[in-house]
Amino acid sequence: MLAMVPYLASGPAFRPSVPRLTLFLALLVAFTASRPAQAVWLDRHEAIMGTNIDVEIWHDDPVKGNAAIDAVMDEMRRIDVLMSHYKPESQLSQINQRGAKEAVVVDRELFDLIKLSLHFSEITDGAFDITYASVGYLYDYRKHIKPTEGQIEHALPGVNWRHLILDEKTHSVKFAQEGMRIDLGGIAKGYAVDRGITILQGRGVQHAVVTAGGDTRIIGDRMGRPWIVGIRHPDDKSKTVLRLPLVDTAMSTSGDYERYFDEDGKRYHHIIDPHTGHSASKVRSATILGPTAVQTDGLSKTAFVLGAERAKEIIERLPEFDGIFVRPDGKVLYTKGLQPPDEAGGSPQSPGGSEAAKKPSK
Ligand code: ADP
Ligand code: MG
Repeated sequence: MLAMVPYLASGPAFRPSVPRLTLFLALLVAFTASRPAQAVWLDRHEAIMGTNIDVEIWHDDPVKGNAAIDAVMDEMRRIDVLMSHYKPESQLSQINQRGAKEAVVVDRELFDLIKLSLHFSEITDGAFDITYASVGYLYDYRKHIKPTEGQIEHALPGVNWRHLILDEKTHSVKFAQEGMRIDLGGIAKGYAVDRGITILQGRGVQHAVVTAGGDTRIIGDRMGRPWIVGIRHPDDKSKTVLRLPLVDTAMSTSGDYERYFDEDGKRYHHIIDPHTGHSASKVRSATILGPTAVQTDGLSKTAFVLGAERAKEIIERLPEFDGIFVRPDGKVLYTKGLQPPDEAGGSPQSPGGSEAAKKPSK
């Protein structure tokens, strides 16, 4: 999703073997004594949490810089072990396995993210709902499997965030009824991106971008200029609907082109309308800009369920957020913090028409 400017330098992590360590250190001392440390861009791509993780940072010490990226990747793996619904031993899977029978005590961290998920359910009129999984698990996009109407009808009563019972004191989670499941696929990547940024900041990094799937957060600028981030065309990933210059911002894009299959002229994709149990198709893509990625992730599904106009109203009520919505008819809607290309709005068919879009005035 990011339209990266070519970086200046990068390389594999320095991991000298023990016999070579002395020589390495001697060279390093000689090198650093003769000239000041040279800052470099470092970047790394890994597959974690079932998605692509990209980390790019500016660091004046490649060894420390690569160690910082290692720490970010380790954190992503830790979060995946805690929150994955694919891993039967994860704490999240424990809730799904036992939550209808008993209150399942989980780590405060997971409890807090579930609590925050309920907050997003509340402010999006239930469009964001982690209990969507009560129906969502019946879809397999890779295998082109979808539930029958009967299966949806049977599972749908399990979709309701108000049926999650949270106990603040014991940090436990319980389901109010049988047949419920939760899935944090719509918020955990944003959370993981924020954790990555916190780790980098704790190590003194001031210029970085961390991306997990559709969720990105940027700190600082890039060589004195904003990072240029592109929102892709829903039907053609080589085209952009819009390019945004960004600094110190989080951004999440959700699209119906990420995980899907088409059958009989209909698209079945991974964002589910909690009210119907069907794929939510009121927009083709939605991008939310805001201070943190956990927030922009929690909001980027709204327009799919409620439509671009309603989502725009909700985002405009939140002072630090902006949104860009691509409707099925191709029209692009912007919240008022962003300057639209023209009064009529742009079109994904004419990416050039979006060039006048300004950095959010935040
Ligand atoms: P990405 O995983 O690339 O960041 P999104 O942020 O668009 O993509 O999240 C899509 C994921 O959100 C789905 O794969 C699913 O796990 C989850 N999800 C689907 N529908 C809903 C919903 N109505 N509320 C909350 N989460 C949802
Ligand atoms: Mg996301």
